[in-house]
Amino acid sequence: MKVIIEDGCIGCGACESICDAVFSVEDTVIVNEAGIAGNEDAVKEAADSCPVSVIKIEE
Ligand code: SF4
Repeated sequence: MKVIIEDGCIGCGACESICDAVFSVEDTVIVNEAGIAGNEDAVKEAADSCPVSVIKIEE
């Protein structure tokens, strides 16, 4: 799985609260690629929960 963040993150923190192994939010989101393995379901949930739909997943 690859995680791509499109432009437009508003830094709300929702993704980090769902999966902090992969997402960290400062002004904007940072993806920790090494945290994805084993957390795929949470990554999908975070992508679904992003209010501006900028988290894209490639299987
Ligand atoms: S949920 Fe979406 S808008 Fe919110 S911090 Fe994460 S990527 Fe950014």
